[in-house]
Order: sequence, then C-alpha cells, then structure tokens
Amino acid sequence: KVRVRFAPSPTGGLHLGGVRTALFNYLFAKKHNGTFILRVEDTDQTRFVSGAEEYIQSCLAWCGIHPDESPLVGGNFGPYRQSERKPSYRQYAERLIDSGNAYYAFDTPEELDAKRKEVPNFLYGQASRMQMRNSLTLSADEVSALLAQHTPHVIRIKMPEDEHVSFIDMIRGHVSFDTNLIDDKVLLKADGMPTYHLAVVADDRAMEISHIFRGEEWLPSAPIHILLWRYLGWEDEMPQWVHLPLILKPDGNGKLSKRDGDRLGFPVYAQNWTDPKTGDLTKGFKELGFMPEAFVNLLAMLGWNDGTDQEVFTLAELTEKFSVERISKAGAKFDFEKAKWYNHEWIKRADAHNLLATVKEEFEAKGIALNDDAYALKVIDLVKDRCNLLGDFIAQSKYFFAAPAEYDLAAVKAKWTPEKAAFFNAFAASLTDGLSAIQMEEKFKELAAEHALKPGELMLPFRIMLVGGKFGPGVFDIAFTLGTAETQSRISIALA
Ligand code: GLU
Repeated sequence: KVRVRFAPSPTGGLHLGGVRTALFNYLFAKKHNGTFILRVEDTDQTRFVSGAEEYIQSCLAWCGIHPDESPLVGGNFGPYRQSERKPSYRQYAERLIDSGNAYYAFDTPEELDAKRKEVPNFLYGQASRMQMRNSLTLSADEVSALLAQHTPHVIRIKMPEDEHVSFIDMIRGHVSFDTNLIDDKVLLKADGMPTYHLAVVADDRAMEISHIFRGEEWLPSAPIHILLWRYLGWEDEMPQWVHLPLILKPDGNGKLSKRDGDRLGFPVYAQNWTDPKTGDLTKGFKELGFMPEAFVNLLAMLGWNDGTDQEVFTLAELTEKFSVERISKAGAKFDFEKAKWYNHEWIKRADAHNLLATVKEEFEAKGIALNDDAYALKVIDLVKDRCNLLGDFIAQSKYFFAAPAEYDLAAVKAKWTPEKAAFFNAFAASLTDGLSAIQMEEKFKELAAEHALKPGELMLPFRIMLVGGKFGPGVFDIAFTLGTAETQSRISIALA
C-alpha cells in the first residue's frame, strides 16, 4: 500500500522546490492508488512563522494538489501537526537511551558556545563526547540526581564508530555514508520537543509511510534516519528512499534560492508571500500571472520527463505517466523564460471560458470593468496566442474595451496623402452591419484599387487607428470584433 507524505516546516513561503516535492509525492500516490499526506513539521518553535501553514495549504490547493490526509481534512493517522504529537516522542528517545544508542547531555548553551569558540568546527561526536557533560561521562548517580532536579538536558544519538550506513535510493542507487563523519545529533530538545530527525522517523512509522520523496538536500540526513529505524527495531518497516534532484540556478551554478529570484526578477514562490517578521514581499507565480496548470507542468519537468519530446502535460496525464525511473539524478536548471513558455502554451490551449474570470480580475484591478461576457470571450480567443502571462491580456486587448487614448498619429499619417484620407472616408462609409472579417477585407481591397492605392500601405494606418499601436491579431479580425459602428468611429477620430 503506497502512503507518501509531504512534510514541510512552516517557516516561510513555499519555494518552488517544495511544491515540486509535494507534486512528485502526489503523482506517485495517485499513480499507485495510494494516499498522499500533508504533515506539518512544526517542532522547531524558534523558526515557526505564523501564517505559513495556511500559505502552504492554499498553494497546494491552487495547484490542484489535494491531500488525502492533512491537518485540515484529518485522517486515521492524525494529528498531522507534529507539535500536537509532542507527548509521543519522548518514549522513543528514552528507548534509545536504554539500548545504549543515545544519551543524556547536560551541557548548557554557554558551555557549548565556549567549546565552539575554543575548537573551530566543533562537532559534538565521537571525538569530543567524552569531554562533555553527559550520561557517558557522568556517573549513574550524578545523572539520576540531575534528572531528579529537572536539570535542562537534551538527548543525543550516539553515532557508531567506523560504520558505513548503506542503502538503496530509488533514484541514486547504492548510497553509503561513513558514521565517523556524522555528529551526535540532538533527538529530543530541552523543551521536550523532538528534533526533526526523531520526529520524522517516529511519524513516518506511525503514519505507515511507504516511500519518502524529498529534496536531495536531505540525503545527508538519511543515514541518521536509517540508524534510528534500526535502533528502534523497525528496520523491516522502513520506507523506500527517493531523493529528488536539486533545482539549480538558471546558469546551473548552485542551488536556486530566493535571492536568485530577487536578483534576476522572477518568482521562486508559488504565491506571494509577505514575511510577517520583516514585511518583505516575495513575488509568487500566481500573482505574476501563471496558470496553475502551467506551474504544475513546469515543476514536473524539473527533473522528470516521459522519455518522449512531449513537454505539455495535464495533471491527469502526469499522474498516468509518472515513474520514478524517469527522474534524473542530475540537478535541474530553472529557466524563467522556459517557465513563461509553458504558461504561454497553457494560455493558448485554454478555453476562453476558463480564462474569463481571471482576465476580468486583471482588468478590474486596472479600473476597467468588462461587462459583456460574450464580447470578452471573443476578445480572449482572438488575443490569447499573444499572451505569456495572464496580465498580458491587458496590453494585448485593452483597445477592445476603450478606444486608444493615444495614437501614434505620426505613424498613421506617415506618407499621408489626400487620396488616403479619401480612401478611409469611403471605407468607413461602406461598412454595414453584419459584414464578416473576410468581407471587410474584400471591401478594403476593392476600394484601395478604386483609389489607386496599394492595400499594403493602408493596412498599418488602419491598424493604428483601431489599436493605437503596431501590434495585435489580424486587423480585419479586430475590426470585425469591434463591430461596424466602433470601427467607423475610430477611423473618424483618427482622421479628424
Ligand atoms: N520538514 C522537512 C522539510 O522542511 C521534511 C524533510 C523530509 O521530507 O524528511 O522539508
């Protein structure tokens, strides 16, 4: 039975790497008729940021990634917030002490600071643990007395010496870590809260997780987790490991960070995120004008492909085609131009009805109310090929809803002659209701011939009269959509 979890810490906005992890978990679950769980890892209360959990839930909902079990929808394995599971963890830390795989450490923060100052790159581990104040160096009586007096203490794992922790990662294959290089991580903190390492293992077991999909940055934690599964006697139930490739900066030089987005002008968060501590706003894909379908599509392609040239996939197709075998080991470069290409493909393919609400919102935000849905739908169909971001609909179509406020009159009247003015007057007069775009074009050409003018030299002035600039779809499609009266009126304004 496939059960997977996305386990974010509510410490800030959800980075696109985080959403990709959620997506791959989700796709794997859906592909195998399994269960996708959202678990909130909020044991580090110093890093807790209020609003972050709501933000995570709303980002996933925007993407169409709906957890089967979560703090919001519940489930049989709850609670789904680690802070609410606090009483369950201590027993495991104590069991590890009993089996000799963990120990109490009474060093005060001041003592640890002093040690760190004295020894550069100090690691609390096999080389140093015998010089510290812990249950390996104190007598049993001293330890009992300190515990009886409720002396603040942590519980640390005792890393074994000269061992290699080896395992199979479904993407990376055989992976091995030398325990001599790993410090004695804290498992239970002085406030009684577990650390990430203990909580993640206890909860992955309690929630019967079958596969752990997470970012490659967690690979160095895997040996600690594997030892905990082993020491707690659960090795038979251990999930399979799947560490997803890193998402790299556009130039491939290192991991993509929020700062790269700020510097290069693209979002790295799914939705806008305002840091409640600093008030700083980080831009999101949603607000920048991405369709959720496009965002999900581009995330799926960061480290995965289906083995063909296909690049545009719906969530349903991704679910059907997803396979761990086709996830690459190599880091995936994030390219914002390519991200916009995905969005363009999705806008192009979208049914105008599905774009209507968003386009109306974009216009409303600019103080323009679109009241005629049927008309707005025609306009959307006409210009959607030209939009990369949803906000582009404004620039690409606002002349349909209000006559251009400014003309490039010099461009309209470049090489202007009285014959041209006569032509446009005649053309405007010839327009009757109910003409199709093709019929308008025919009239235009007939009259041009009568005035001994080339249609080519009239087309650009005509476009500028209607649009105000040198852009947009076919000029007769524009005139047809605007309708006869509006077309006539724009010609006469420009000629006045
Ligand atoms: N809480 C960890 C995070 O913030 C979860 C890592 C894991 O999936 O084990 O990403």
